[in-house]
Amino acid sequence: MDIAGNLLIGQDVRRGTNGVSYALDAASGERLAPGFGGATLEDVDAACELAWSAFDRFRETSLEARAEFLDTIATNILALGDKLIERCVAESGLPRARIEGERARTVGQLRMFAGVVRSGDFLEVRMDPAQPERKPLPRVDLRMRHIGLGPVAVFGASNFPLAFSVAGGDTASAFAAGCPVIVKAHAAHPGTSELVGGAVRQAVEDCGMPAGTFSLLFGSGREIGQALVRDPRIKAVGFTGSRQAGTDLMAVAAARLEPIPVYAEMSSINPVILFPHALEQRGEAIAQAFVQSLTLGAGQFCTNPGLILAVQGPALDRFVAAASEALARTPAATMLTPGIHRAFETGVANFSAHPQVQTLARAQPAAGVNEGQGALFLTTAEAFREHASLREEIFGAASLIVSCPDLQAMQALIESLEGQLTVALHIDEEDYTVARSFLPVLERRVGRVLVNGFGTGVEVSHAMVHGGPYPSTADGRSTSVGSLAIRRYLRPVSYQDVPEALLPEALKATNPWKVNRLVDGKIELA
Ligand code: NAP
Repeated sequence: MDIAGNLLIGQDVRRGTNGVSYALDAASGERLAPGFGGATLEDVDAACELAWSAFDRFRETSLEARAEFLDTIATNILALGDKLIERCVAESGLPRARIEGERARTVGQLRMFAGVVRSGDFLEVRMDPAQPERKPLPRVDLRMRHIGLGPVAVFGASNFPLAFSVAGGDTASAFAAGCPVIVKAHAAHPGTSELVGGAVRQAVEDCGMPAGTFSLLFGSGREIGQALVRDPRIKAVGFTGSRQAGTDLMAVAAARLEPIPVYAEMSSINPVILFPHALEQRGEAIAQAFVQSLTLGAGQFCTNPGLILAVQGPALDRFVAAASEALARTPAATMLTPGIHRAFETGVANFSAHPQVQTLARAQPAAGVNEGQGALFLTTAEAFREHASLREEIFGAASLIVSCPDLQAMQALIESLEGQLTVALHIDEEDYTVARSFLPVLERRVGRVLVNGFGTGVEVSHAMVHGGPYPSTADGRSTSVGSLAIRRYLRPVSYQDVPEALLPEALKATNPWKVNRLVDGKIELA
């Protein structure tokens, strides 16, 4: 399969006629061939029509057929081989090893969702059999399962060109739930998007799924992205990116005649709390690990440690010195796009110019275009409380250390934070009592509490929560990573006194799909 710059509208491979855009080589800034034709509003309409007409058939495919479809996408992505890796490295500026790892994660994620579908547990079948003899009133027969919400619009993320893009977590979980997907590709990696889109399109054909199960559109977020979210045939949105774009899409979705859920993962500064004993005993070692996490992938992770909280004193001074030295030795790194690089530089310049912020260290100077030079800052708890600008995410390798007068001030500061994806606690056993007293506040503020580590490196598994209260995500009741992500695209339907012949397979008395069910409140294993 070659990169031709075409839209994929169901099985139709079509040249977009709404302008032409090009990918940039992130490291050199040079334009990469070919040009990508942008989608028109007619293309959006065609993709939505196809997706809507595919929905009823796709959502009623057997569990095995849908699982096979997800497995086939994984196989087809691997079959793209080096062509995919090379294009993705060029477009993202991320190292080859990272991209290979991300491909493995993407494929693993698709296969995990295939397993989720095969088990049928996501249907959460419940059955309350009729009790005709019940007094004073007989009980009706009630059965419940979950169905897909409908076609989902997915916005690929710039910072995960594979794992959170065309066939990433949002798409895999929507397919698993039985929802057709229309992807609005991210302009940072259109070639990668077309290659992966081709692998999905091929899987649709290989597995005999309805043509409208998948479409891929190139074009502007404001025009094409918003038109997609406005379309009445779209029933949910998956997004990762900036708070501005995420909240714009939430507003578009809320203004529809039929408002729909937007699962937007937006911004987070992921506090790291250094508890007194751990800081005293191993502050320097924590500092080294912190700088590694901060600068990984040029800091372009939503879980990047952007805020360090600790109590002032000699132990914090030693941590600051060790972290500053480690960062000063770190090379600058190519960022994903000129826009993201500019936003990083602006954020760093704003912190540097702040009268109550001290610039502790910068990484080594940039040697090429688009390279971000990591930055570490220090401020006081008082300044952090007073200046909302210091609580804003700088997307990239920048972090702010806040020196607190005591633990009470630190707890009050945490209470004042916006919703976050993660909090990392560095603790020894001697810190447990204090850490325990912090936990209730932390649980209210974040989606994941982790100990003696950093939030970067998000495991794709069943117990993972990659979400958190607003504004880290639009809806803190969900996750975008891990098998629980399927819940975002499902809703329950009850069937009351529906004859066996009309019931969906999962609810029939004979249990032909062999799914676990909750019968009269008790789990019945298949
Ligand atoms: P972005 O600007 O939010 O763009 C993400 C996607 O949304 C793109 O497809 C974009 O299309 C579209 N879009 C942008 N504005 C829109 C709008 N008003 N209405 C509808 N769609 C819109 O994110 P980005 O390009 O990846 O990076 C920009 C900034 O986002 C970064 O500097 C960083 O601050 C933040 N970011 C955060 C995370 C995180 O995980 N927290 C991840 C990535 C980025 P266009 O191509 O038309 O712009």
